[in-house]
Amino acid sequence: MIGLEQKKLPLVALRGLTVFPYMTINFDIGRDRSMAALEEAMAGDQLLFLVTQIDPNKEDPTTEDIYEVGTVVRIKQMLRLPGDTVRVLVEGLHRARYVEVVSMDPYIEVMVEEQDNVEEEETPSHEALMRGLNELFEEYVRLSSRVSPETLLSVSAVTDAAQLTDVVAANALYKQEDKQSVLEIFDPLERLEQLHIILGKEIEILKIEQKINQRVRKQIDKMQKEHYLHEQIKAIQTELGEDEENEVEEFRKKVEDLPLDEDAKKKVLKELRRLKRTPSGSPEVAVLRTWMEWITDLPWNVETKDNLDLKNAEVILDEDHYGLGKVKERIVEYLAVRRMTKTMQGPILCFVGPPGVGKTSIARSIARAIGRNFVRMSLGGVRDEAEIRGHRRTYVGAIPGRLLSNIRQAGSNNPVFLFDEIDKMSRDFRGDPSAALLEVLDAEQNHSFTDHYLELPFDLSRVMFLATANTLDTIPPALLDRMEVIRISGYTEEEKISIARRHLIPKQMKEHGMAVETITISDNTIREMIVRYTREAGVRNLEREIANLCRKVAKELIEKNKQSVRVTISNLEKYLGVRRYKREEATMKNEVGLVTGLAWTAVGGVTLNIEVNTMPGSGKLSLTGQLGDVMKESARAALSYIRANADALGLPKDFYEKQDIHIHIPEGATPKDGPSAGITMATAMISALTKTPVRGDIAMTGEVTLRGRVLPIGGLKEKALAAHRAGIHKVIIPEENSKDITEIPDNVRRKLDIVTVSELNSVLNQALLRD
Ligand code: ADP
Repeated sequence: MIGLEQKKLPLVALRGLTVFPYMTINFDIGRDRSMAALEEAMAGDQLLFLVTQIDPNKEDPTTEDIYEVGTVVRIKQMLRLPGDTVRVLVEGLHRARYVEVVSMDPYIEVMVEEQDNVEEEETPSHEALMRGLNELFEEYVRLSSRVSPETLLSVSAVTDAAQLTDVVAANALYKQEDKQSVLEIFDPLERLEQLHIILGKEIEILKIEQKINQRVRKQIDKMQKEHYLHEQIKAIQTELGEDEENEVEEFRKKVEDLPLDEDAKKKVLKELRRLKRTPSGSPEVAVLRTWMEWITDLPWNVETKDNLDLKNAEVILDEDHYGLGKVKERIVEYLAVRRMTKTMQGPILCFVGPPGVGKTSIARSIARAIGRNFVRMSLGGVRDEAEIRGHRRTYVGAIPGRLLSNIRQAGSNNPVFLFDEIDKMSRDFRGDPSAALLEVLDAEQNHSFTDHYLELPFDLSRVMFLATANTLDTIPPALLDRMEVIRISGYTEEEKISIARRHLIPKQMKEHGMAVETITISDNTIREMIVRYTREAGVRNLEREIANLCRKVAKELIEKNKQSVRVTISNLEKYLGVRRYKREEATMKNEVGLVTGLAWTAVGGVTLNIEVNTMPGSGKLSLTGQLGDVMKESARAALSYIRANADALGLPKDFYEKQDIHIHIPEGATPKDGPSAGITMATAMISALTKTPVRGDIAMTGEVTLRGRVLPIGGLKEKALAAHRAGIHKVIIPEENSKDITEIPDNVRRKLDIVTVSELNSVLNQALLRD
């Protein structure tokens, strides 16, 4: 049964919105007329009549512009929003049709005919239609993304046909006309049927939509896949196909130009064919390619032209280095011979001396003088032949040895090639690197030096090999045989000052972008730097300190906006920090059991204090201070001499049984070895045993035999320099070293009283202060 009732209600026109009974919904009201209607409703029973506008774009609709049927709603909540808008929450009550317009202003008031929500009698067709609608709605929800599954739940709980239709219509219908058409049907049964039709249609449409979507997606997928595949093919092609062809061709062209002999060329071409045949994915391709690159990159036929003008060489050597007169002379002689014989074959020059004396840089200078490229390969720590000669290609990650790598880096087949630190090479189970080196340096063999990796002979006969070492002791004799040793000893203070002034300071200032006049520094200040900030035979640390000074001065110039800086002894600490070393000084005091020795270490000559204590005991000899075996033996030899000559030395026969002797050489951190402290240790022991003081201003060096003979030592110049640095006045040296005295720089020699001895007795006479 449909009950109709008439009522006067304020009307609000809705834009694009259809409200159904049972629906709770929010919407905003802004138009004046609607606002007035709302106010009227709020003043009364909160009921409003909502009708949808036919054209939602009409700003001020009249009754012409709205549908006739709408919904009576109750206002549940009002919320004022900024800007004269009110948001209302309403609940749909009944559908209604307006039958008369009561007034138009200030709001539209109409007389409506309202339908009651009377419970309908359930008939089987109702039941059937409701079930059908439920199913349709379910399917609709499944297909459409517009309705949430929760809505489906609440819909399925509805048992009343009238309510069901309105809830379904409110949730499922999309088009305004559809919604309005359902709203306008007052009879629930009829609504059920109409909804069946509309939903059925909607579902069809949705199904079609879905199909189209799927097809579109498939299409897109297919296109993407094709595109992707095409891209891949392209990548693969560039990776192997065409590019590889080009690559192989390029290699082939390069190989044709290489001055290889028949066999070698055959071998390379064979490898090239292998490269072409090997599938590009195979790891072997990379191996082959790297090999080809090495082969084609080596400077097989790149040769620089020599300049053997000796005058020019002299000029350049002088330009680069201060002093070193003899060394330069030898180099020029060497070049003269090379010029005469028209070959670079000959003994290998080996510069031997402490670090920082310019061995490397003089080698570089030679390269510059004759106009060759220069490469340097450090042998320090090389212990494996493969490092020089490479690993076989079958070895994973194999590369050529350092020798040919350096030749490639040099970019010519006749560079000056320096083996640095040839004395620091060692050997182990993996093979002896010096054997490989021997072959490299051997004129008979090096025209076909074969690297394990490259497996092709490379001609090294035009390379000019040079070497450097700190000491000759550890160089394998076979290697030493092939070399012509040129010793470069340390520099005196005066020499260092000149080197600093002429070379190191200008070089460092240039490197720091400073003009010559920005730093003023006196010789005395340079001397202070040498003595208090470095302790070395060469000038490496001095150069470092100069670089340090330049950095600090540059900073000061910028910060203080200065033009120049004067560096003096008194402001030196500001730039270089606290002075690092005390003046190296021998004790100078006459003491019992304390003697100044002279030693020659890898870092140059040094003074060495040797201390001896005796104490009651049972004849034990202990030695401390990191002494090497040779040095220990030499101490024992000295002791034997003393025992054998106890009488003459004024010692009781059994002195040995009742005393322990302890020899100590301070600065335990530096290992010391060699026989040259023999006479020093003997003197110290005798002094301690006989309680006779030793002159503090004397230093000595010399090996001693069991019979008390004094044998010659090495490194006299270095030792003399060390003694001079330490302020020693008198130096005792073996007679056989007299011939070396000329090596000592004049200014040092003049200040030293050099005494030559051949017997330990003479040493004692000079050094001990006997009554
Ligand atoms: P080494 O190879 O003997 O250890 P370096 O050749 O590396 O020493 O020399 C260290 C620095 O000292 C280099 O900058 C070098 O130019 C410089 N040097 C060494 N001796 C001289 C010298 N006689 N004249 C000019 N500079 C020198």
